[in-house]
Amino acid sequence: MAKPKLATCSLAGCFGCHMSLLDIDERILELVELCDLDRSPLNDKKTFDSVVDIGFIEGGCANEHDVRVLHDFREACHVLIAVGACAINGGVPAMRNPLSLRECLEATYLSPTPDGDHRIPDDPVLPRLLDRVYPAHEVVNIDYFLPGCPPSADVIWSGLKDLLAGRAPSFPYQMLRYD
Ligand code: SF4
Repeated sequence: MAKPKLATCSLAGCFGCHMSLLDIDERILELVELCDLDRSPLNDKKTFDSVVDIGFIEGGCANEHDVRVLHDFREACHVLIAVGACAINGGVPAMRNPLSLRECLEATYLSPTPDGDHRIPDDPVLPRLLDRVYPAHEVVNIDYFLPGCPPSADVIWSGLKDLLAGRAPSFPYQMLRYD
């Protein structure tokens, strides 16, 4: 019987949630027994082969490319999980949200620098920034949320194992304490 498939992506995030996934250490051998990895930065695969069972979303949407990737994942994945604070509420990238995009760009690129090159990048290959950073659930429907910054390896492992077994993830209180 074919194994379930897992896909992952990093949108406006720092890859810390992917690092936490890799922190499951030797359990990664069990993970590759339980599922196949489809589209993911972990294998540098940029398109889907087929419909995927679980989509792991790191980061919110800061630009139009993030929105396209998130829609691709929603379309291709039966179950979509928002992993970490950036996917769930925008996290650190959303600290720009109280400012307008113009204020943000001016503060970042037009502040005086020693080399005197003050220009807001406008190369057409750059994805257009959104007016603010959007958490994943404000762009597409998200099925489950794994909290933390990043969620611990144990939380990610437990959540993935539940989903791969066809169960909703559930965590004992001790796993979700941050004090
Ligand atoms: Fe990085 Fe934390 Fe955001 Fe994950 S939730 S992408 S670890 S900043």
